[in-house]
Amino acid sequence: MSHGDDAYGAALEAAVRHSAAWLDSLAHRHVGPAAEAYDLTGVFGGSLPREGMPAAEVVDFLARAAEPGLMAMPSGRFFGWVIGGTLPAALATDWLVSAWDQNAGLRYATPAMAAIEECAGAWLLKLLGLPGDSDVGFVTGATMANFTGMAAGRWRLLADAGWDLDRDGLAGAPRIRCFVGRERHDTVDLGLRYLGLGAPVPVEADQQGRLVPEALDAALRAGTGPALVCLQAGNLHSGAFDPFPEAIRVARSHGAWVHVDGAFGLWAAAAPGLRHLTAGAGEADSWGTDAHKTLNVPYDCGIAIVRDAAALRSAMGLHASYLVHDAEGPGDPFEKVPELSRRARGVPVWAALKSLGRDGVAAQVGGLAAAAAGIAEGLRGIDGVEVLNDVQYTQVSVAFGDDATTRAVTARIIGDGKVWMSGSRWRDRDILRISVSNWRTAGDDVATAVDAVGSALAAVRGSRA
Ligand SMILES: *Cc1c(COP(=O)(O)O)cnc(C)c1O
Repeated sequence: MSHGDDAYGAALEAAVRHSAAWLDSLAHRHVGPAAEAYDLTGVFGGSLPREGMPAAEVVDFLARAAEPGLMAMPSGRFFGWVIGGTLPAALATDWLVSAWDQNAGLRYATPAMAAIEECAGAWLLKLLGLPGDSDVGFVTGATMANFTGMAAGRWRLLADAGWDLDRDGLAGAPRIRCFVGRERHDTVDLGLRYLGLGAPVPVEADQQGRLVPEALDAALRAGTGPALVCLQAGNLHSGAFDPFPEAIRVARSHGAWVHVDGAFGLWAAAAPGLRHLTAGAGEADSWGTDAHKTLNVPYDCGIAIVRDAAALRSAMGLHASYLVHDAEGPGDPFEKVPELSRRARGVPVWAALKSLGRDGVAAQVGGLAAAAAGIAEGLRGIDGVEVLNDVQYTQVSVAFGDDATTRAVTARIIGDGKVWMSGSRWRDRDILRISVSNWRTAGDDVATAVDAVGSALAAVRGSRA
Protein backbone atom coordinates (compact mmCIF):
# COMPACT_ATOMS: atom_id res chain seq x y z
CA MET A 1 0.00 0.00 0.00
CA SER A 2 1.32 3.43 -0.77
CA HIS A 3 1.62 5.80 2.16
CA GLY A 4 -0.57 8.82 2.57
CA ASP A 5 -1.14 9.59 -1.07
CA ASP A 6 -3.98 7.16 -1.65
CA ALA A 7 -7.49 7.36 -0.32
CA TYR A 8 -7.21 4.60 2.26
CA GLY A 9 -3.60 4.24 3.36
CA ALA A 10 -3.33 6.82 6.12
CA ALA A 11 -6.67 5.93 7.68
CA LEU A 12 -5.93 2.21 7.70
CA GLU A 13 -2.49 2.79 9.14
CA ALA A 14 -4.02 4.89 11.90
CA ALA A 15 -6.48 2.09 12.59
CA VAL A 16 -3.66 -0.46 12.82
CA ARG A 17 -1.72 1.79 15.19
CA HIS A 18 -4.68 2.43 17.47
CA SER A 19 -5.75 -1.22 17.41
CA ALA A 20 -2.28 -2.33 18.47
CA ALA A 21 -2.20 0.26 21.27
CA TRP A 22 -5.57 -0.93 22.51
CA LEU A 23 -4.57 -4.58 22.46
CA ASP A 24 -1.30 -3.75 24.26
CA SER A 25 -3.19 -1.90 26.96
CA LEU A 26 -5.31 -4.93 27.82
CA ALA A 27 -2.67 -6.61 29.95
CA HIS A 28 -2.62 -3.81 32.51
CA ARG A 29 -5.55 -1.49 32.20
CA HIS A 30 -8.37 -1.04 34.69
CA VAL A 31 -10.97 -3.38 33.20
CA GLY A 32 -14.02 -1.15 33.55
CA PRO A 33 -14.53 2.06 31.57
CA ALA A 34 -13.38 5.37 33.10
CA ALA A 35 -16.16 7.44 31.54
CA GLU A 36 -19.89 7.13 31.14
CA ALA A 37 -21.80 7.49 27.90
CA TYR A 38 -23.16 10.82 29.21
CA ASP A 39 -19.61 12.16 29.51
CA LEU A 40 -18.82 11.19 25.95
CA THR A 41 -21.78 12.36 23.95
CA GLY A 42 -20.45 15.89 24.37
CA VAL A 43 -17.13 14.84 22.85
CA PHE A 44 -18.64 13.07 19.87
CA GLY A 45 -21.73 15.18 19.38
CA GLY A 46 -22.71 18.79 18.99
CA SER A 47 -24.04 19.85 15.64
CA LEU A 48 -22.54 18.05 12.69
CA PRO A 49 -19.91 20.43 11.29
CA ARG A 50 -20.50 21.77 7.84
CA GLU A 51 -17.06 20.72 6.69
CA GLY A 52 -15.67 17.24 6.97
CA MET A 53 -12.39 15.94 8.35
CA PRO A 54 -9.73 13.82 6.61
CA ALA A 55 -10.22 10.09 7.20
CA ALA A 56 -7.00 9.50 9.17
CA GLU A 57 -7.83 12.42 11.46
CA VAL A 58 -11.29 10.99 12.04
CA VAL A 59 -9.72 7.71 13.11
CA ASP A 60 -7.21 9.45 15.38
CA PHE A 61 -9.86 11.61 16.98
CA LEU A 62 -12.19 8.68 17.47
CA ALA A 63 -9.59 6.39 19.00
CA ARG A 64 -8.44 9.04 21.48
CA ALA A 65 -11.89 10.21 22.42
CA ALA A 66 -13.33 6.71 22.79
CA GLU A 67 -10.47 5.41 24.94
CA PRO A 68 -11.90 6.37 28.37
CA GLY A 69 -15.24 4.82 27.47
CA LEU A 70 -13.91 1.43 26.46
CA MET A 71 -14.36 -1.67 28.61
CA ALA A 72 -11.49 -4.16 28.42
CA MET A 73 -13.82 -6.90 27.23
CA PRO A 74 -11.11 -8.64 25.18
CA SER A 75 -8.86 -8.89 28.26
CA GLY A 76 -8.16 -12.23 29.93
CA ARG A 77 -9.32 -10.55 33.16
CA PHE A 78 -12.82 -9.90 31.89
CA PHE A 79 -15.34 -12.41 33.27
CA GLY A 80 -18.60 -10.56 32.71
CA TRP A 81 -21.75 -11.93 31.01
CA VAL A 82 -20.53 -14.46 28.45
CA ILE A 83 -18.24 -12.37 26.30
CA GLY A 84 -15.48 -13.98 24.34
CA GLY A 85 -12.25 -12.38 23.24
CA THR A 86 -10.89 -12.29 19.73
CA LEU A 87 -8.42 -14.66 18.17
CA PRO A 88 -5.71 -12.94 16.11
CA ALA A 89 -6.65 -14.72 12.89
CA ALA A 90 -10.31 -13.85 13.38
CA LEU A 91 -9.62 -10.17 14.09
CA ALA A 92 -7.31 -9.72 11.12
CA THR A 93 -9.78 -11.56 8.90
CA ASP A 94 -12.59 -9.36 10.12
CA TRP A 95 -10.64 -6.32 8.88
CA LEU A 96 -10.14 -8.06 5.56
CA VAL A 97 -13.86 -8.81 5.30
CA SER A 98 -14.53 -5.08 5.71
CA ALA A 99 -11.94 -4.20 3.08
CA TRP A 100 -13.36 -6.76 0.65
CA ASP A 101 -16.83 -5.34 1.30
CA GLN A 102 -18.63 -8.27 -0.26
CA ASN A 103 -22.38 -8.50 0.03
CA ALA A 104 -22.42 -12.17 0.95
CA GLY A 105 -26.05 -12.96 0.13
CA LEU A 106 -25.60 -14.56 -3.28
CA ARG A 107 -23.47 -17.52 -4.19
CA TYR A 108 -22.76 -16.47 -7.79
CA ALA A 109 -22.01 -12.85 -6.91
CA THR A 110 -19.52 -13.45 -4.10
CA PRO A 111 -18.29 -16.99 -4.69
CA ALA A 112 -15.28 -16.78 -2.39
CA MET A 113 -17.44 -15.72 0.56
CA ALA A 114 -20.00 -18.44 -0.17
CA ALA A 115 -17.34 -21.13 -0.49
CA ILE A 116 -15.53 -20.09 2.69
CA GLU A 117 -18.76 -19.94 4.70
CA GLU A 118 -19.89 -23.32 3.36
CA CYS A 119 -16.58 -24.87 4.39
CA ALA A 120 -16.73 -23.19 7.80
CA GLY A 121 -20.27 -24.53 8.16
CA ALA A 122 -19.17 -28.08 7.35
CA TRP A 123 -16.34 -27.86 9.89
CA LEU A 124 -18.74 -26.54 12.50
CA LEU A 125 -21.19 -29.39 12.03
CA LYS A 126 -18.39 -31.86 12.60
CA LEU A 127 -16.97 -30.05 15.62
CA LEU A 128 -20.37 -29.61 17.24
CA GLY A 129 -21.46 -33.19 16.52
CA LEU A 130 -24.48 -32.15 14.43
CA PRO A 131 -25.98 -33.83 11.35
CA GLY A 132 -23.70 -33.23 8.38
CA ASP A 133 -26.51 -32.38 5.96
CA SER A 134 -27.86 -29.49 8.06
CA ASP A 135 -28.09 -25.97 6.66
CA VAL A 136 -25.89 -23.37 8.34
CA GLY A 137 -26.62 -19.64 8.37
CA PHE A 138 -24.37 -16.91 9.74
CA VAL A 139 -26.44 -14.42 11.71
CA THR A 140 -25.65 -11.60 14.12
CA GLY A 141 -25.75 -13.59 17.34
CA ALA A 142 -27.50 -16.36 19.24
CA THR A 143 -30.68 -14.31 19.61
CA MET A 144 -31.09 -14.35 15.85
CA ALA A 145 -29.76 -17.89 15.56
CA ASN A 146 -32.47 -19.09 17.93
CA PHE A 147 -35.04 -16.97 16.12
CA THR A 148 -33.98 -18.49 12.80
CA GLY A 149 -34.08 -22.08 14.04
CA MET A 150 -37.45 -21.57 15.69
CA ALA A 151 -38.78 -19.82 12.55
CA ALA A 152 -37.97 -22.97 10.58
CA GLY A 153 -39.77 -24.95 13.29
CA ARG A 154 -42.82 -22.70 13.11
CA TRP A 155 -42.96 -23.13 9.32
CA ARG A 156 -42.64 -26.92 9.50
CA LEU A 157 -45.15 -27.38 12.32
CA LEU A 158 -47.75 -25.31 10.52
CA ALA A 159 -47.09 -26.95 7.14
CA ASP A 160 -47.54 -30.35 8.80
CA ALA A 161 -50.81 -29.11 10.28
CA GLY A 162 -51.97 -28.20 6.76
CA TRP A 163 -51.57 -24.46 7.27
CA ASP A 164 -49.99 -22.26 4.57
CA LEU A 165 -48.09 -19.75 6.68
CA ASP A 166 -46.64 -17.87 3.72
CA ARG A 167 -50.03 -17.23 2.17
CA ASP A 168 -52.28 -16.94 5.20
CA GLY A 169 -50.01 -15.65 7.94
CA LEU A 170 -50.43 -16.49 11.60
CA ALA A 171 -53.91 -15.09 12.20
CA GLY A 172 -56.26 -18.03 12.49
CA ALA A 173 -53.41 -20.58 12.34
CA PRO A 174 -53.32 -23.53 14.73
CA ARG A 175 -51.72 -22.31 17.94
CA ILE A 176 -48.16 -23.53 18.41
CA ARG A 177 -47.50 -24.33 22.06
CA CYS A 178 -43.96 -23.37 23.07
CA PHE A 179 -42.09 -24.92 25.98
CA VAL A 180 -38.82 -23.79 27.53
CA GLY A 181 -36.93 -24.65 30.68
CA ARG A 182 -37.62 -22.23 33.52
CA GLU A 183 -34.00 -21.04 33.28
CA ARG A 184 -33.82 -20.48 29.53
CA HIS A 185 -32.10 -17.34 28.32
CA ASP A 186 -34.52 -14.40 28.07
CA THR A 187 -33.67 -13.93 24.40
CA VAL A 188 -35.47 -17.20 23.61
CA ASP A 189 -38.69 -15.46 24.68
CA LEU A 190 -37.68 -12.53 22.52
CA GLY A 191 -37.30 -14.80 19.49
CA LEU A 192 -40.72 -16.31 20.14
CA ARG A 193 -42.14 -12.82 20.41
CA TYR A 194 -40.61 -11.85 17.04
CA LEU A 195 -42.27 -14.97 15.66
CA GLY A 196 -45.68 -14.03 16.99
CA LEU A 197 -45.81 -17.18 19.10
CA GLY A 198 -46.36 -15.44 22.41
CA ALA A 199 -44.88 -16.28 25.78
CA PRO A 200 -43.61 -19.84 26.24
CA VAL A 201 -44.66 -22.25 28.99
CA PRO A 202 -41.80 -22.43 31.52
CA VAL A 203 -41.03 -26.00 32.53
CA GLU A 204 -39.59 -26.91 35.93
CA ALA A 205 -35.81 -26.97 36.21
CA ASP A 206 -33.60 -28.69 38.77
CA GLN A 207 -31.06 -27.16 41.18
CA GLN A 208 -28.56 -26.55 38.39
CA GLY A 209 -31.19 -25.08 36.10
CA ARG A 210 -31.64 -28.16 33.91
CA LEU A 211 -35.09 -28.78 32.48
CA VAL A 212 -36.84 -31.75 34.12
CA PRO A 213 -38.01 -34.15 31.36
CA GLU A 214 -40.94 -35.53 33.41
CA ALA A 215 -42.20 -31.99 33.87
CA LEU A 216 -41.87 -31.39 30.12
CA ASP A 217 -43.90 -34.52 29.49
CA ALA A 218 -46.63 -33.37 31.88
CA ALA A 219 -46.71 -29.90 30.30
CA LEU A 220 -47.01 -31.35 26.79
CA ARG A 221 -49.74 -33.74 27.92
CA ALA A 222 -51.77 -30.87 29.33
CA GLY A 223 -52.80 -29.77 25.83
CA THR A 224 -52.88 -30.74 22.19
CA GLY A 225 -51.68 -29.33 18.90
CA PRO A 226 -48.31 -28.44 17.41
CA ALA A 227 -45.51 -27.92 19.90
CA LEU A 228 -42.08 -26.34 19.86
CA VAL A 229 -39.60 -27.17 22.62
CA CYS A 230 -36.48 -25.09 23.19
CA LEU A 231 -33.75 -26.78 25.22
CA GLN A 232 -30.54 -25.27 26.49
CA ALA A 233 -26.86 -26.18 26.23
CA GLY A 234 -25.13 -23.99 28.79
CA ASN A 235 -27.06 -22.27 31.57
CA LEU A 236 -25.86 -18.71 32.10
CA HIS A 237 -25.42 -19.16 35.86
CA SER A 238 -24.40 -22.77 36.29
CA GLY A 239 -23.16 -23.69 32.82
CA ALA A 240 -25.45 -26.75 33.06
CA PHE A 241 -26.88 -28.62 30.09
CA ASP A 242 -30.44 -29.89 29.74
CA PRO A 243 -30.70 -33.71 29.68
CA PHE A 244 -30.99 -33.97 25.90
CA PRO A 245 -31.63 -37.70 25.34
CA GLU A 246 -34.58 -37.83 27.76
CA ALA A 247 -35.98 -34.39 26.93
CA ILE A 248 -35.79 -34.97 23.18
CA ARG A 249 -37.42 -38.41 23.54
CA VAL A 250 -40.29 -36.79 25.43
CA ALA A 251 -40.62 -33.95 22.89
CA ARG A 252 -40.58 -36.38 19.97
CA SER A 253 -43.29 -38.53 21.54
CA HIS A 254 -45.52 -35.44 21.27
CA GLY A 255 -44.40 -34.61 17.73
CA ALA A 256 -42.64 -31.42 18.85
CA TRP A 257 -39.98 -29.50 16.96
CA VAL A 258 -36.89 -29.34 19.16
CA HIS A 259 -34.55 -26.36 19.08
CA VAL A 260 -31.39 -26.12 21.20
CA ASP A 261 -30.09 -22.76 22.45
CA GLY A 262 -26.40 -23.54 22.68
CA ALA A 263 -25.07 -19.99 22.55
CA PHE A 264 -21.89 -20.88 24.39
CA GLY A 265 -22.55 -24.46 25.51
CA LEU A 266 -22.77 -26.26 22.19
CA TRP A 267 -18.99 -25.85 21.95
CA ALA A 268 -18.53 -28.44 24.70
CA ALA A 269 -18.98 -30.99 21.92
CA ALA A 270 -15.64 -29.90 20.44
CA ALA A 271 -13.65 -30.85 23.55
CA PRO A 272 -13.23 -34.57 24.28
CA GLY A 273 -13.27 -34.02 28.05
CA LEU A 274 -16.54 -32.07 27.90
CA ARG A 275 -18.34 -33.78 25.05
CA HIS A 276 -20.53 -35.83 27.39
CA LEU A 277 -22.31 -32.60 28.35
CA THR A 278 -23.93 -32.26 24.92
CA ALA A 279 -24.65 -35.97 24.44
CA GLY A 280 -27.88 -36.40 22.51
CA ALA A 281 -28.16 -32.73 21.47
CA GLY A 282 -27.54 -33.75 17.87
CA GLU A 283 -30.97 -35.41 17.79
CA ALA A 284 -32.74 -32.03 17.83
CA ASP A 285 -34.12 -30.28 14.73
CA SER A 286 -32.32 -26.95 15.00
CA TRP A 287 -29.59 -25.30 17.00
CA GLY A 288 -28.43 -21.77 17.70
CA THR A 289 -24.94 -20.85 18.81
CA ASP A 290 -22.52 -17.96 18.88
CA ALA A 291 -19.11 -17.72 17.33
CA HIS A 292 -18.49 -14.42 19.15
CA LYS A 293 -18.60 -16.18 22.51
CA THR A 294 -16.70 -19.45 22.96
CA LEU A 295 -14.98 -19.47 19.56
CA ASN A 296 -13.68 -15.90 20.07
CA VAL A 297 -14.39 -14.19 16.77
CA PRO A 298 -15.27 -10.47 16.85
CA TYR A 299 -18.87 -9.35 17.29
CA ASP A 300 -21.29 -9.90 15.60
CA CYS A 301 -21.43 -13.55 14.71
CA GLY A 302 -24.00 -16.19 15.54
CA ILE A 303 -24.75 -19.46 13.80
CA ALA A 304 -28.17 -20.92 12.96
CA ILE A 305 -28.20 -24.62 12.14
CA VAL A 306 -31.28 -26.42 10.82
CA ARG A 307 -31.54 -30.02 9.70
CA ASP A 308 -34.73 -29.50 7.66
CA ALA A 309 -33.34 -27.34 4.86
CA ALA A 310 -36.74 -27.00 3.15
CA ALA A 311 -38.24 -25.55 6.31
CA LEU A 312 -35.36 -23.12 6.83
CA ARG A 313 -35.29 -21.92 3.25
CA SER A 314 -39.06 -21.57 3.24
CA ALA A 315 -38.91 -19.48 6.41
CA MET A 316 -35.96 -17.31 5.35
CA GLY A 317 -35.74 -17.45 1.54
CA LEU A 318 -37.35 -15.03 -0.86
CA HIS A 319 -39.61 -17.53 -2.55
CA ALA A 320 -42.56 -18.74 -0.57
CA SER A 321 -42.80 -22.44 0.32
CA TYR A 322 -39.84 -24.31 -1.06
CA LEU A 323 -40.46 -27.66 -2.57
CA VAL A 324 -38.20 -30.25 -1.10
CA HIS A 325 -36.06 -30.45 -4.26
CA ASP A 326 -35.44 -26.69 -4.11
CA ALA A 327 -33.72 -27.25 -0.82
CA GLU A 328 -31.16 -29.61 -2.27
CA GLY A 329 -27.64 -28.41 -2.90
CA PRO A 330 -25.92 -25.70 -0.94
CA GLY A 331 -28.44 -22.93 -1.59
CA ASP A 332 -27.73 -19.22 -1.44
CA PRO A 333 -26.52 -17.77 1.85
CA PHE A 334 -29.48 -15.38 2.05
CA GLU A 335 -31.91 -18.30 2.16
CA LYS A 336 -30.61 -19.34 5.57
CA VAL A 337 -30.67 -16.02 7.46
CA PRO A 338 -33.23 -13.29 8.11
CA GLU A 339 -31.46 -10.62 6.06
CA LEU A 340 -30.65 -10.28 2.37
CA SER A 341 -27.56 -8.03 2.36
CA ARG A 342 -24.99 -9.14 4.85
CA ARG A 343 -21.29 -8.90 5.63
CA ALA A 344 -19.41 -12.19 5.25
CA ARG A 345 -19.35 -12.79 8.98
CA GLY A 346 -18.73 -16.50 8.53
CA VAL A 347 -15.27 -15.80 7.13
CA PRO A 348 -13.70 -14.91 10.50
CA VAL A 349 -15.22 -18.17 11.76
CA TRP A 350 -13.36 -20.02 9.03
CA ALA A 351 -10.16 -18.18 9.97
CA ALA A 352 -10.58 -18.96 13.67
CA LEU A 353 -11.09 -22.65 12.92
CA LYS A 354 -8.24 -22.75 10.40
CA SER A 355 -5.87 -21.12 12.87
CA LEU A 356 -6.84 -23.44 15.73
CA GLY A 357 -7.40 -26.76 14.02
CA ARG A 358 -9.48 -29.43 15.74
CA ASP A 359 -6.98 -29.79 18.55
CA GLY A 360 -6.82 -26.06 19.05
CA VAL A 361 -10.60 -25.72 19.33
CA ALA A 362 -10.64 -28.59 21.83
CA ALA A 363 -7.83 -26.98 23.82
CA GLN A 364 -9.51 -23.58 23.79
CA VAL A 365 -12.88 -24.86 25.01
CA GLY A 366 -11.25 -27.22 27.49
CA GLY A 367 -9.03 -24.38 28.68
CA LEU A 368 -12.00 -22.13 29.45
CA ALA A 369 -13.62 -24.87 31.54
CA ALA A 370 -10.32 -25.61 33.27
CA ALA A 371 -9.88 -21.94 34.17
CA ALA A 372 -13.43 -21.83 35.56
CA ALA A 373 -12.66 -24.93 37.64
CA GLY A 374 -9.45 -23.30 38.85
CA ILE A 375 -11.27 -20.14 39.89
CA ALA A 376 -13.96 -22.17 41.68
CA GLU A 377 -11.31 -24.15 43.53
CA GLY A 378 -9.46 -21.01 44.58
CA LEU A 379 -12.68 -19.40 45.78
CA ARG A 380 -13.75 -22.44 47.78
CA GLY A 381 -10.57 -21.93 49.79
CA ILE A 382 -11.67 -18.45 50.90
CA ASP A 383 -13.70 -18.28 54.08
CA GLY A 384 -17.09 -16.71 53.43
CA VAL A 385 -17.34 -17.63 49.73
CA GLU A 386 -20.09 -20.04 48.66
CA VAL A 387 -19.71 -21.59 45.22
CA LEU A 388 -23.34 -22.18 44.30
CA ASN A 389 -23.14 -24.27 41.15
CA ASP A 390 -21.65 -27.55 40.12
CA VAL A 391 -18.80 -26.19 37.98
CA GLN A 392 -18.63 -28.45 34.93
CA TYR A 393 -18.18 -25.90 32.21
CA THR A 394 -17.25 -22.20 31.99
CA GLN A 395 -19.56 -20.59 34.57
CA VAL A 396 -19.06 -20.05 38.29
CA SER A 397 -21.75 -18.50 40.47
CA VAL A 398 -20.88 -17.46 43.99
CA ALA A 399 -22.44 -15.66 46.93
CA PHE A 400 -21.05 -14.20 50.13
CA GLY A 401 -23.70 -14.91 52.72
CA ASP A 402 -26.47 -12.33 52.47
CA ASP A 403 -27.50 -10.40 49.35
CA ALA A 404 -26.23 -7.06 50.65
CA THR A 405 -22.72 -8.47 51.15
CA THR A 406 -22.77 -10.10 47.73
CA ARG A 407 -23.77 -6.82 46.11
CA ALA A 408 -21.13 -4.90 48.04
CA VAL A 409 -18.39 -7.36 47.09
CA THR A 410 -19.44 -7.25 43.44
CA ALA A 411 -19.36 -3.44 43.40
CA ARG A 412 -15.96 -3.48 45.08
CA ILE A 413 -14.50 -5.92 42.54
CA ILE A 414 -15.72 -3.79 39.66
CA GLY A 415 -14.46 -0.62 41.32
CA ASP A 416 -11.03 -2.14 41.96
CA GLY A 417 -10.81 -2.87 38.23
CA LYS A 418 -8.36 -5.78 38.32
CA VAL A 419 -11.08 -8.01 36.91
CA TRP A 420 -14.69 -7.50 35.82
CA MET A 421 -17.45 -9.89 36.88
CA SER A 422 -21.23 -9.59 36.64
CA GLY A 423 -23.64 -9.26 39.49
CA SER A 424 -26.80 -11.23 38.81
CA ARG A 425 -29.67 -13.04 40.49
CA TRP A 426 -30.06 -16.79 40.54
CA ARG A 427 -32.40 -19.01 42.52
CA ASP A 428 -33.68 -16.06 44.52
CA ARG A 429 -30.28 -14.83 45.58
CA ASP A 430 -27.96 -12.08 44.50
CA ILE A 431 -24.84 -13.65 43.07
CA LEU A 432 -21.49 -12.83 41.56
CA ARG A 433 -21.16 -14.63 38.26
CA ILE A 434 -17.82 -15.45 36.71
CA SER A 435 -17.81 -16.48 33.09
CA VAL A 436 -14.63 -17.66 31.42
CA SER A 437 -14.92 -17.05 27.71
CA ASN A 438 -11.62 -15.66 26.49
CA TRP A 439 -8.79 -17.72 25.02
CA ARG A 440 -6.35 -15.34 26.71
CA THR A 441 -7.49 -16.13 30.25
CA ALA A 442 -4.48 -17.97 31.66
CA GLY A 443 -3.15 -19.20 34.99
CA ASP A 444 -2.14 -15.67 36.03
CA ASP A 445 -5.62 -14.40 35.37
CA VAL A 446 -7.13 -17.23 37.39
CA ALA A 447 -4.95 -16.23 40.34
CA THR A 448 -5.77 -12.55 39.79
CA ALA A 449 -9.48 -13.38 39.76
CA VAL A 450 -9.30 -15.33 43.01
CA ASP A 451 -7.24 -12.59 44.66
CA ALA A 452 -9.58 -9.88 43.44
CA VAL A 453 -12.58 -11.62 44.97
CA GLY A 454 -10.73 -12.39 48.20
CA SER A 455 -9.48 -8.85 48.70
CA ALA A 456 -12.86 -7.31 47.84
CA LEU A 457 -14.53 -9.55 50.42
CA ALA A 458 -11.90 -8.64 53.01
CA ALA A 459 -12.36 -4.93 52.27
CA VAL A 460 -16.15 -5.16 52.59
CA ARG A 461 -15.80 -6.97 55.90
CA GLY A 462 -13.14 -4.55 57.10
CA SER A 463 -15.33 -1.55 56.34
CA ARG A 464 -18.06 -3.06 58.53
CA ALA A 465 -15.85 -4.08 61.43
C1 LIG B 1 -25.66 -14.87 24.94
C2 LIG B 1 -26.78 -15.83 24.94
C3 LIG B 1 -27.88 -15.67 24.09
C4 LIG B 1 -28.04 -14.45 23.22
O1 LIG B 1 -26.99 -14.37 22.33
P1 LIG B 1 -26.57 -13.02 21.59
O2 LIG B 1 -25.36 -13.43 20.85
O3 LIG B 1 -26.31 -12.02 22.67
O4 LIG B 1 -27.68 -12.63 20.71
C5 LIG B 1 -28.83 -16.66 24.08
N1 LIG B 1 -28.74 -17.74 24.88
C6 LIG B 1 -27.70 -17.92 25.72
C7 LIG B 1 -27.66 -19.15 26.56
C8 LIG B 1 -26.68 -16.98 25.78
O5 LIG B 1 -25.65 -17.14 26.61
